[in-house]
Amino acid sequence: MSENQCKPFKLLIVGGVAGGASAAARVRRLNAKAEIIMFEKGEHVSFSNCCLPYHLSGTIADSEDLVLMSPESFRRQHDIDARTNSEVTAIDRTAKKVTVKNLLTGESYEETYDKLVLAPGAAPILPGSIAGIHRANVFTVRNVTDIRAIKAAVDQEGIKQIVVVGGGFIGIETAENLKKAGKDVSLIEGLEQIMAPFDYDMVQILHKELDDHNIPLYLKSSVTAIEEGCVKAVKDGKEFTVSADAVIMAVGVAPETALAKNAGLAIGETRGIKVNHNYQTSDPDIYAVGDAIEIYNALTHSYGRLALAGPAQRQARAAADHICGIHHNNRGFIGSSCIRVFDQNAASTGLNEKMAAKAGYTYDSVLIFPSDKVGIMPDSNYMVFKLVFEVPTGLILGAQAIGRGAADKRIDVIAAMITMHATLEDLKELELCYSPIFGTAKDVVNFAAMVGLNILYGNYRQVHVNEVRSLVESNAYIVDVREEEEFAEGHLNGAHNVPLSQLRQRMDEIPRDIPVYLHCRSSQRSYYALCCLRGNGYRNLYNISGSYLGISLYEYYNDKTEHRTP
Ligand code: FAD
Repeated sequence: MSENQCKPFKLLIVGGVAGGASAAARVRRLNAKAEIIMFEKGEHVSFSNCCLPYHLSGTIADSEDLVLMSPESFRRQHDIDARTNSEVTAIDRTAKKVTVKNLLTGESYEETYDKLVLAPGAAPILPGSIAGIHRANVFTVRNVTDIRAIKAAVDQEGIKQIVVVGGGFIGIETAENLKKAGKDVSLIEGLEQIMAPFDYDMVQILHKELDDHNIPLYLKSSVTAIEEGCVKAVKDGKEFTVSADAVIMAVGVAPETALAKNAGLAIGETRGIKVNHNYQTSDPDIYAVGDAIEIYNALTHSYGRLALAGPAQRQARAAADHICGIHHNNRGFIGSSCIRVFDQNAASTGLNEKMAAKAGYTYDSVLIFPSDKVGIMPDSNYMVFKLVFEVPTGLILGAQAIGRGAADKRIDVIAAMITMHATLEDLKELELCYSPIFGTAKDVVNFAAMVGLNILYGNYRQVHVNEVRSLVESNAYIVDVREEEEFAEGHLNGAHNVPLSQLRQRMDEIPRDIPVYLHCRSSQRSYYALCCLRGNGYRNLYNISGSYLGISLYEYYNDKTEHRTP
């Protein structure tokens, strides 16, 4: 036990939700004598931000359930003084005191501290460039008050058409829950894709899922104005209008740094509060945690921001430990997240291809479509899984999984492997539990490692789905080894159909002197075909990663994205 665990001291905390409440509770567990005051400018402390959108669909029927702890329960259970409607407006570092404004009475007062924790989070961005952004029917989603306001507004008679602006986690979850509440929802996104943690080839599945649930998706579109009954936006220089009785702005969050900045605390290059490995700001008596800070990324070895609840709580615990004299080994963050989009579960961890490239890694990836359970089980489905690894070390850098099954479980395994600096060899050997109810004997993640090792060790070469269009256009020799009935249902222009079951008899049809690109439905049969041809002296062979499933998803929805007209 450290000395600081029995010493009385006065701790003030700014922000009473994920980071703030976690820090307060941990310090109390470690020190029974500390005086702990937590200030929250909103109406509630300790609510579940992550569950907010689910109130809109009635999944969480009573908004009171979103509030996990009240000031009274903080006082009773933990002897923590939680003050709501109390905004900390200034920090005097020399006198070690803060100014607090009671937002109900308008009065301000001062409170001294020995240690101060800043956990003010991040605020939804409301771009001033959008005319009408402050209209009464424009909402953001940050707290219980916000979600109640949205629910009250959209439940009114005549409120039917809702535009969500922004295709990140909050935008997508809000859109889905409003749709489930019976609203006509459209989604406008400035980039070419929703959900930045996913690569473009993967995210097409989520674009399709929105399409399938009748949520019109306007990509590469910038909102310019919100007017009576509509939203105006621009795509490729052309203006279009989408009807809107209400608008949800979910274009991202900005760290709340004004308080820190005004107190002269250092702000990082990525605009979050700068902290050291113990979450101390440039003033050692002031700590900062959560969405407001910049964090160290253990894979890119650089600083960035990560607005997620798990990291905020881990940081809060580490800061509380340090305040109480307990050592914490800061391993940095890799970024693991998941979302459900209607019937698709999607999860990712570590670096996607864009991030790996930006971080300067030499990397490769595999895209596979294995069954998430034994194929004959009634609820078996394929899972789209992408694994990104460093070349030539085989170090696992990241993964993305999307499917109806347990995508989060697969990604959690990879997150654990990345944290332990594992390679493809480690993942191949990883012994996981199996029953047909839950998975396959060779789990999706083991399978991905095996495919990755084949690529890494040069057992065969692959091309990626985004290269297929140019192969087709340049009349490359593509062999589709699916059965004839499958080929008849749809195939690549100019592809030669030599089913795997006939390959040994018809091998001579395949040229030996030019590159041959093989595919099937999911790349498994084409891999077998490749092995067979290789064993018969063929050398210039490529397997198309992701095969027909990957190509059709990529190309079809790529086309749709490009040509989607408002
Ligand atoms: P917050 O939890 O936002 O708390 C900060 C609090 O500080 C705010 O309540 C604010 O009012 C208060 N405050 C700010 N300034 C002052 C001041 N000067 N004085 C007093 N109080 C102040 N993360 C996930 O990992 N998974 C999810 O599924 C997920 N879903 C989400 C869904 C929604 C709708 C939202 C909004 C967020 C979601 N998040 C999710 C993100 C997650 O909630 C945040 O990363 C996490 O809450 C950050 O914790 P924090 O303590 O830094 O900030």
